[in-house]
Amino acid sequence: MIFYSTNGQAPAATLEKAVVKGLAEDKGLYMPERIKALPQEFFDNIENLSFQEIAYTVADAFFGEDVPAADLKAIVYDTLAFDCPCVKVTDNIYSLELFHGPTLAFKDVGARFMARLLQYFLKKEGSEQVNVLVATSGDTGSAVANGFLGVDGIHVYVLYPKGKVSPIQECQFTTLGKNITAVEVDGVFDDCQALVKNAFMDKELNAHMKLTSANSINVARFLPQSFYYFYAYAQMKKLGLADELVVCVPSGNFGNICSALFGKKMGLPIKRFIAANNANDIFFKYLQTGKYEPKASVQTIANAMDVGDPSNFARVYELYGKSHAAICADISGATYTDEQIAETIRKVKSDTGYVCDPHGACGFQALQDGLNAGEVGVFLETAHPAKFKDTVDAILNESIEIPAKLQAFMKGTKQSVPMSKDFSDFKKYLLSE
Ligand SMILES: *Cc1c(COP(=O)(O)O)cnc(C)c1O
Repeated sequence: MIFYSTNGQAPAATLEKAVVKGLAEDKGLYMPERIKALPQEFFDNIENLSFQEIAYTVADAFFGEDVPAADLKAIVYDTLAFDCPCVKVTDNIYSLELFHGPTLAFKDVGARFMARLLQYFLKKEGSEQVNVLVATSGDTGSAVANGFLGVDGIHVYVLYPKGKVSPIQECQFTTLGKNITAVEVDGVFDDCQALVKNAFMDKELNAHMKLTSANSINVARFLPQSFYYFYAYAQMKKLGLADELVVCVPSGNFGNICSALFGKKMGLPIKRFIAANNANDIFFKYLQTGKYEPKASVQTIANAMDVGDPSNFARVYELYGKSHAAICADISGATYTDEQIAETIRKVKSDTGYVCDPHGACGFQALQDGLNAGEVGVFLETAHPAKFKDTVDAILNESIEIPAKLQAFMKGTKQSVPMSKDFSDFKKYLLSE
């Protein structure tokens, strides 16, 4: 498969180059040149297939030309070693729980898939050890660290701001050991990001060690998220509820919903989508006005969606031939304040017993507000509520249970490398590695 850049100024790339490089030379995002439609009999029979079987069929359409079947199958089956059930919340609203993976959030699938695909290409190239640098304010670091854990040939450095990450988040990447090193930076998230950027640009460092990123715009991280939507459809079809299916995606950088839109282009019969935003309403405004106006992000209680310039907007725009009307025909929007999110979490709990996390709550509310008669909605519960325990506990005025998987991280021993925010210190450290 050939990949082209959304900015149109970079040469086309192979899958291998797109995965190893991440971003195109012109800073555009890679798009597959073709999106293959899946055969009707796949959809006719989908409810009888397992999550892995469904995902492999989808993965084959994107990656099958470049990765031998046995390798691709091994990557898919290793990535999807857990379930994501559709759970009934009300008569016409279901929650697709994407929090049964290692770090209890939906980014686990993309991170693991990317780790394994990158490993496949590095082995093929006979490459020496590769070092992944990732800056995190919390969630990305844990997904990437756990996705790459134990993948030989790749070492991961997670840079995070000292004292600015919650203890529950911190333990998910500081207790792993093996090929994961946590670097605790005496600074803020932007300092961590600056250290990573400087490292990629430093000639001496790049001569000393092979560096790469695990950015969320990488095709190997974002495309596998489409597996979720095919599986959700299969589950709803089994229940006889898939005829007028509306899928609502709590969105920040728009990678997740973008993968769903790729699924629709492949023939997945989802009637329409809703992109649920928190107070960062750039996409919501775009739908209303046709103007895309990025701005600084504002902090909310659904903080994984605090994005003021969603990077995957470029992909959505490209996918719909840059047509505002075409985008509006498939996707509507919604936006919620922190107060509304809190009210939804309270109301859903008291009405149904279900506990939403702040991101999923935006999704639920957008369906509640936007479903038409006859439609059935599925929202993506993108993280386990215990990942945002302080927030959710305060809203519900109770102490929600922490799943065993999260408790296991909390029992581990924290190990991190203390670092100043000066690049010279970080460089000296990497050169000594
Ligand atoms: C990353 C994230 C989102 C937003 O996903 P995008 O692909 O950036 O739109 C939503 N919820 C949670 C919990 C996340 O971690």
